[in-house]
Amino acid sequence: MQKRTFKKTGEKISLLGMGVMRLPETADGLIDEDLSVDMIRRAIEGGINYMDCAYTYHGGASEKVLGKALKNGYREKVFIADKIPAWLAKNEEDIEKMFEESLARLDVDFIDMYLIHNITAPIWKKVQKLNVIPFLEQKQREGKIRHLGFSFHDSLSLFREVVDFRSWDFCQIQLNYMDADIQAGVAGLRYAASKGLSVIIMEPLKGGRLTDAVPSSIKKIWDRAETKISPAEWCFRWVADFPQVTTILSGMSTMDQLEENLAIIENCLPESLTKNELSLIEEAAGKYRELIKYQCTDCKYCMPCPFKVDIPRCLSLYNEWFLYDKNPKTLMEYKSWMDKRQRASNCTDCKECESKCPQQLHITEAMKKIKQEFGE
Ligand code: SF4
Ligand code: SF4
Repeated sequence: MQKRTFKKTGEKISLLGMGVMRLPETADGLIDEDLSVDMIRRAIEGGINYMDCAYTYHGGASEKVLGKALKNGYREKVFIADKIPAWLAKNEEDIEKMFEESLARLDVDFIDMYLIHNITAPIWKKVQKLNVIPFLEQKQREGKIRHLGFSFHDSLSLFREVVDFRSWDFCQIQLNYMDADIQAGVAGLRYAASKGLSVIIMEPLKGGRLTDAVPSSIKKIWDRAETKISPAEWCFRWVADFPQVTTILSGMSTMDQLEENLAIIENCLPESLTKNELSLIEEAAGKYRELIKYQCTDCKYCMPCPFKVDIPRCLSLYNEWFLYDKNPKTLMEYKSWMDKRQRASNCTDCKECESKCPQQLHITEAMKKIKQEFGE
């Protein structure tokens, strides 16, 4: 297994990290514990030493299963990463309660890599209001947290602000060849690395959307490559090409996926893609973009909508729907992750947003189409 260096301590971390958000499930929707334990141990035997978990995954069951899998000498072989969901806290006591709960579920005395989960503008405000950082720094002094970081899903400008706020050890950002300029993106990766942070990458396959159902026009592009590799390998190789990347997370649900990823990662060297390969990836990204229905740049000038519709997010999910061959994960994100009040069905056709859109998008027409397509 290839390893990269954790900047703060010089420790070696596997280039492939295992996300335990998508552990295999039984027919009744619970985590398949036996298979998950086998997968986690096989991952460790295959050289993975970074296990990425969160308080919220599977309502806490992921932490318990990870803790179970790390018994019998496995715990000492890995870095456990876990995350605190500040958005769930009503007060400072809730923060402490969730932290202690995570330690108890994992059945460990300390967590190696602890992250403030999913920083966005409102969550960042809450983190400060509830004094989350001083609390976590205290836990670090007590030896219950080794390294402190954050995971991020907002604009590049907020990302820079958070990076500069204190001396973090690491951060976690979303990155894949379709999202090079979205959220923190490649610019954020370079910025964080220049400030001494190790950078963990999530969503290298865009949640499976770049690999689950590849449109035929994209397949034709990959077929032209000199070296024939899978769409997943193109994704991993693109991310790993950046030497600033420390670890790439993949949420694996089957033993086959794990074995495939273990094999792929061996081919993922820094700065190894040729000019031709990079231009092929760019061509594939360009083709994906052509399939996009609304060229929304996520500038948010149209916001806030007086009726609370999250216009850019609705447009982004509608685009994804066609881009990735109507992948059910997109629909799930719209129906399960988005607040009901933010969905397109709340649009009253007031047209207040349209005059503000620099792309001159017909937002009201789009909202009608989204409602029709997604059913609400
Ligand atoms: S037209 Fe619809 S989306 Fe635009 S501001 Fe009015 S309610 Fe919001
Ligand atoms: S103003 Fe237009 S381009 Fe900008 S986020 Fe809104 S819809 Fe998208």
